[in-house]
Formats: sequence, C-alpha cells, structure tokens
Amino acid sequence: MDDFYPAGDEHVLVYEVTGRLVPAGGIPLARGVVVNNVETLMNVALAQGGIAVTRKFVTVAGEVNRPATYRVAIGTTVAHLLELAGGVREEHRSDFEVMLDGPMMGRVLDRGTDLGAVQVSAITSGVIVLPTRHPSLTERRQSMEHQVRMARSACIQCTMCTDACPRYLLGHELRPHIIMRTIGHAADPALADRPREREELLMAGLCTECGVCSLVCPMGLAPRSVNARVRRAMAAGGLRWNTLSGDDGTRVRLHPARRGRLIPSGRVAARLRLGQYLHVEELVEA
Ligand code: SF4
Ligand code: SF4
Repeated sequence: MDDFYPAGDEHVLVYEVTGRLVPAGGIPLARGVVVNNVETLMNVALAQGGIAVTRKFVTVAGEVNRPATYRVAIGTTVAHLLELAGGVREEHRSDFEVMLDGPMMGRVLDRGTDLGAVQVSAITSGVIVLPTRHPSLTERRQSMEHQVRMARSACIQCTMCTDACPRYLLGHELRPHIIMRTIGHAADPALADRPREREELLMAGLCTECGVCSLVCPMGLAPRSVNARVRRAMAAGGLRWNTLSGDDGTRVRLHPARRGRLIPSGRVAARLRLGQYLHVEELVEA
C-alpha cells in the first residue's frame, strides 16, 4: 500500500487491499471482509495461549526527551508515560499541551488536566506533547459554535473539502461543502425546514471525522467540526443517514480521480507542522 492519510480508514483499507467497495454507511463484513489491527491480532494469539492481555503499545512523541513506543500496562497514567519518555523538554515544561491518539482524530486534554488521573486504556494508541501555541491545536481550541459561525460567514464553496474527502472519493454520498452551505440555514437536521436541507445535513452521518477537509480548506475552516456538530444533533434526535432517493449506499462508484488526490502522510504532517516529530523508532518494554 502507498503511504497516505487516512490509509487506516477501514473502508479505504478494504478497497486498497481487496479492491472491494464497502457500501456507504455499511461495514466491511458487507463485502466479506473483517478488519483488525496488528496489535489486536497479536493479543488474540496471546489470549489463545492463555496469556492475559494487560499491556498496550503507546507511542509517545512530540516535545519529550525520549520519543518512543512504550509497551505499558493498561491503567498506566499519562504522567508516568511522560516520565518514561524522559519528561517534557525543558524549553516547553511550562507551556505544553497533551494530545491523545493522533493529531488528526485524537483529542486534546483540557488545560490543567491532572495527567496523573488520565490512564492508558485498551484503545489508547499515542500521546503527543506539543507547545501550547502549536498550529495543529487551533481547530481543537475553537468551540463548535464558533466554527459553525465561521462556516456561515466565510465558506466560499470552492469544493476543495469534498474533492479531497476520502469517503467521497470512494463513491459515498458525502459532500462536506454542501453541509457547510446548508449549515447557514440549519444546524440540526431535525429542525431543517425543507426535506432537501435535512437530507444534505444527514450526509454528516457518513463522516469519519478524519479531518482531511479541514486540512485542505483554503479559508482555514473546519468542516470536520461542523460535521461533528451535526452528528451530535443527529444522535440526540435518533437520526441516521438516509436520502430522499432511497439510496441505501450500496451503489458506490469509485471517483475516477481518487488515486491522484490521495494525500501522502508526510505532507499531512508537514501541513500540521508535525514533520519534526515523525521519526519515532525505538520500542521500549516498560
Ligand atoms: S474547502 Fe473550505 S471554503 Fe471551500 S467549500 Fe470547503 S469549507 Fe468551504
Ligand atoms: S472529516 Fe471531512 S474529509 Fe473526513 S470523512 Fe468527514 S467530511 Fe470527509
């Protein structure tokens, strides 16, 4: 497989490995495929051998003295992980933030969070320490309501977000630029005046929140966060993606320009100003 983002999106992975297109809103099993990550398969083998699975691989990167992938007990605190990683580099000890589980889909801990109270769970994959003013934190700091207001006032409908959306390129009915336009009239599908607006907002139900749309937007807008806002409203209202045409998502057709629009991981990291933190090679059994 080529090195691009988000190669780990399971619909993308299934297509790249098997050439099969998973239906929009569906799961890989619909195409006879099960997706597991390498660590899960290793843990299954351990469990089959009677060994309890109590440890987890967690990559610690960014402004720490010893970036590495640490194998630690589930329940290890983030504070202890940072100690294992030699602590935060001196120049950032008083102004750093902690991001869990990757810069594109992870979450930033609130400032002042007690790192001794945040524990590694079975799904924790990474901890990144960044200077407080790092540009990759900007979208995470803005409230969803602020981002919705920005969408209403600054989206120029250039369609670049849709052109780069990995799910759109797989043929799914997800067009973030349309959601950005419709959000100007309604933010909650349940409250949309017209059926067409409601259908447009429900497209957010197909969004994985991978963040590619926010990465490429020339206006610095955050379609990913707007989609997250709509998805929250959908969940509260018990709504799921559906269309007026009755499309059940099975008629997916690959976008002919998809291959040329894939974004190499290195370019994503460079765009987020994270290139300097990419090389984490050491594996440490803690
Ligand atoms: S890329 Fe940005 S400006 Fe262009 S349509 Fe999408 S949200 Fe609007
Ligand atoms: S976050 Fe943006 S690019 Fe990613 S799936 Fe959702 S709409 Fe598409």
